[in-house]
Amino acid sequence: MVSTHPTGVQHSGSQYLPPSRSTEANASPNQELLPLTARVHHHDFLQIGGCDVTTLVKQFGSPLYILDEETLRLACQQYRDAFKQYYKGESQVLYASKAWNCLAICAIAASEALGIDVASGGELYTALQAGVNPEKIYLHSNNKSREELLFATESGCTIVVDNWHELKTLIEIAEKGVPLTASLSPRIMLRLTPGIECHTHEYIRTGQIDSKFGFDPNELKELFTFVSKQSILNCVGLHAHIGSQIFERQPHRDLAALMVDWLRDALKCGLNLTELNVGGGLGIKYIESDDPPSIEEWVKAICEAIQEACTSENLPLPKLLCEPGRSLIATACVTAYTIGSSKVIPEIRTYVAIDGGMSDNPRPITYQSVYRAVVANKMSFASTETVTIAGKHCESGDILIHNALLPKTEPGDILVVMGTGAYNYSMASNYNRLPRSAAVLVANGEANLILQRETYQDLIRQDRLPERLKI
Ligand code: PLP
Repeated sequence: MVSTHPTGVQHSGSQYLPPSRSTEANASPNQELLPLTARVHHHDFLQIGGCDVTTLVKQFGSPLYILDEETLRLACQQYRDAFKQYYKGESQVLYASKAWNCLAICAIAASEALGIDVASGGELYTALQAGVNPEKIYLHSNNKSREELLFATESGCTIVVDNWHELKTLIEIAEKGVPLTASLSPRIMLRLTPGIECHTHEYIRTGQIDSKFGFDPNELKELFTFVSKQSILNCVGLHAHIGSQIFERQPHRDLAALMVDWLRDALKCGLNLTELNVGGGLGIKYIESDDPPSIEEWVKAICEAIQEACTSENLPLPKLLCEPGRSLIATACVTAYTIGSSKVIPEIRTYVAIDGGMSDNPRPITYQSVYRAVVANKMSFASTETVTIAGKHCESGDILIHNALLPKTEPGDILVVMGTGAYNYSMASNYNRLPRSAAVLVANGEANLILQRETYQDLIRQDRLPERLKI
């Protein structure tokens, strides 16, 4: 899997570099391992967004999330442009901010004309604070609290209603009159369980019948009839999401066709809906053998399926929404760690430890996810060692990468793990009371801090020591 030079030397980091933009201007970020601006400079050093990675670590500390603005913006543009090219009706791409929600990222997505999908009051608050227009925010979750529903209604965002309990709570809220804007009727969509299986990890599969998300497809008639009679609710459309890190296109085509059937069924029940949200789910390349479709191919497949189904059902084209997370942001970010101790167990394994682990990237221990890494200060060294990259947590399972093929490493080397933009910072914890890492945004040789590193003081900010326990 590691490229071999004509000299027979196995080449390490440089093999993961994306194609140069001059030769392949339309690289789809989700099909690359490194951000699109990644280069090797001074023979051995990795540069991203025009910034030297080892210098960034000296300046901002380690571990460090490094987010490449150009790669993120390109992915946003590719989604947006593909809808314009392949869909004849109106469309709106939303960024599924559960992948990584913070002020700077919401602001970048919004500046690329994307809306934001949020999954809690906290994500909604962040998007609003980032200046995102509430008309372009959609709130999800299978158990929104009354407070979250009230907050969302007041903010004017769209609520993707997941179940009967929520529907009835929203009606109560609307009937009582939302404070300040008494006549506002909640703008909603209905999330339905499509019963479509796809090949991905069971924890990130959501479309199968046995899922905690969405209304049961067997009660659609009852649901549509009920909602059609609620004049206090402004129900505009339907939503479904089948799962994440999906490489096949057929499940998404099937979903698109099914959702058009639902539109027709809703109309028969007196509910005239004009929007369909097909969710997210497009996978990315984490390792060499991963082969996801490009952003353009994915969008094209969905647009074609919706248009064909609408033609055959003789229905007008709905406003089409989708909400990708991973494929928009994962490849744009890498995490830089400093290598520390190592342990050689002869004929068994060599552990090389880094200064982070399951607290900044819980995906390997949660989903057995696989990653690739390079050494940022040894990009042109030969890969001669197979090692296990261990995190620093008190947990044997805290292994970031099994069998990483790397040059010989020493304490102080900078290990860069690729594809960490999605579900890393957003799922980070303070396990073992490790302060959360910092994140920088890099572009054109400039680095801006977007998430400050937590301090030990931050760790005890919410602690309270009752008087009687004081020593
Ligand atoms: N929409 C919903 C409802 C989700 O649950 C998720 C992720 O789980 C997404 C969108 C984003 O999925 P992905 O990051 O795979 O694009």
